[in-house]
Amino acid sequence: TLAPLFASIEEADDRPVLVTFETGKQETLSGREFTHAVESEASRLIRDLGAGPDRRFAVFAAPSARSVIASLAVLRSGATLVPVDTQFTDETLTSVLDDADLAAVWCDSRRCSRLKALRPDLARLPVEAPAPDAGGDSEFPARTPENPAALFYTSGTTGPPKGVPLSERNLAYQFDVLKNSGLVGPGDRLLLPLPLHHVYPLVIGVLVPLALGLSVVLPRSLTGREVLHAAAESGATVMIGVPRLYRALLEGLERRGGVLLKVAGEICYRIRSTTGISAGRLLLAPVHRRVGPQLRLFASGGAPLSPETALRLEGLGWDVAIGYGLTETSPLLTINQGRSPHPESVGSALPGTDLRVTEGELQARGPGVFAGYRHLPDKSREAFAEGGWFRTGDLARIDEEGYVYITGRASTVLVTEGGKNIQPDEVETAYESHPAIREIAVLQKESRLVAVVVPESAALHDGGDSEEVLRGAINRISGQLPSYQRIADFAITREPLPRTRLGKLRRHLLQERYRQARE
Ligand code: ATP
Repeated sequence: TLAPLFASIEEADDRPVLVTFETGKQETLSGREFTHAVESEASRLIRDLGAGPDRRFAVFAAPSARSVIASLAVLRSGATLVPVDTQFTDETLTSVLDDADLAAVWCDSRRCSRLKALRPDLARLPVEAPAPDAGGDSEFPARTPENPAALFYTSGTTGPPKGVPLSERNLAYQFDVLKNSGLVGPGDRLLLPLPLHHVYPLVIGVLVPLALGLSVVLPRSLTGREVLHAAAESGATVMIGVPRLYRALLEGLERRGGVLLKVAGEICYRIRSTTGISAGRLLLAPVHRRVGPQLRLFASGGAPLSPETALRLEGLGWDVAIGYGLTETSPLLTINQGRSPHPESVGSALPGTDLRVTEGELQARGPGVFAGYRHLPDKSREAFAEGGWFRTGDLARIDEEGYVYITGRASTVLVTEGGKNIQPDEVETAYESHPAIREIAVLQKESRLVAVVVPESAALHDGGDSEEVLRGAINRISGQLPSYQRIADFAITREPLPRTRLGKLRRHLLQERYRQARE
């Protein structure tokens, strides 16, 4: 159950468990301070709001020390934590709040105002206002493994969000497998540049490291500059990120200097100096100065990481570990520990988890798998095959050594002329490899493949020719693809494509995007 989580935090004692940059300066909370804050809040929830099993409390706030304390306090009180995406539209937010049937919502000042306008009847707990000191005599309820610890809502890339209750047993399994994986160990500091409403950052980025006695570093914001600053200042050793973040990181390092160079065994990038007598001159700076010399491991999950990105990061001296899973599986089902013989695989099943491929679909059984969606009996039934196998909806193959290769998602497959099944992300990765293309989304129009393209701004500097430049880029890539993967038409847009906070395309919005961009 979750008992070891709170025990580890307490045992950290004087060591920092949380590092933040909310004021711009680095601030830390020790295990003792954190425990005290969490217990005071948990006591208040129990005393004033009847917290316990079967009561749900949402956290609707930007990442901060106080929002992490609020989240842990809900778990400590024995109630169920409901992390809510701050970027939900009013409509989605209302339906999620109704579905969750909440006792109260923790919110930061911006989100409290939004809630007040939208759902004035809901009790609001401002995250910034600490509870009065509870003293040392708090009693917390005993918890059972089947107690729903958290209720996550899926990000809705394929339809409206679904409520996914995860039990203490589900979460505790993630603690165990990461502890035994050897990927992280004492002294590690995990930098978490992601919002906290999703299962991956919350479980793998916050709860697991705290349960293993490590510290968590939250950057001031999710901009590249703040993330690099937090990495270097805090001495972070591991980054918990998503593929788009790593692509941006590589591009950021490379854009400053064109190419990364190896000088005397050290990887350097070129920067133009802005200060002193060298102002305006090109200098060489070690890459590690940007991200901090301690950083050794990039963990990637949530979406496919292209083997090219993984190999480039590894080529620069960092390790890359890939995790694969879903909200419904708490999340990890597999880990590829990196520098593996199969960089395009998501690794093999975690100990205790069984995987199989049936009719092309990956199915899972194990201690991390949830029991069913909240309030959706039909969807819950459909989610499991006979024998309790959870249907991931991902298309995959497993090789003789047990390595799993995700080849796409059943619900996003496009079927075009000639009846070929096409995975849009595979086609997108191919086109995005061209430097003129910043983003591309592939969709189907009648029986053809079409795309919405966001060009790289540099590719557009000569205004009127932009379409020409892009057409050239697209023809170039099309020439390398089999005919059924080529796009027949594209529309240009300068607005970023609709994505979830973890960078996944919201595919159900793309037809509308294509139509708008075409007009
Ligand atoms: P919804 O279920 O509402 O459409 P979602 O797709 O964002 O939202 P999540 O549970 O966040 O739901 O995402 C799980 C999916 O993410 C998996 O089914 C898989 O398609 C994809 N995924 C996660 N990690 C990886 C990975 N390492 N490689 C490839 N795909 C991954």
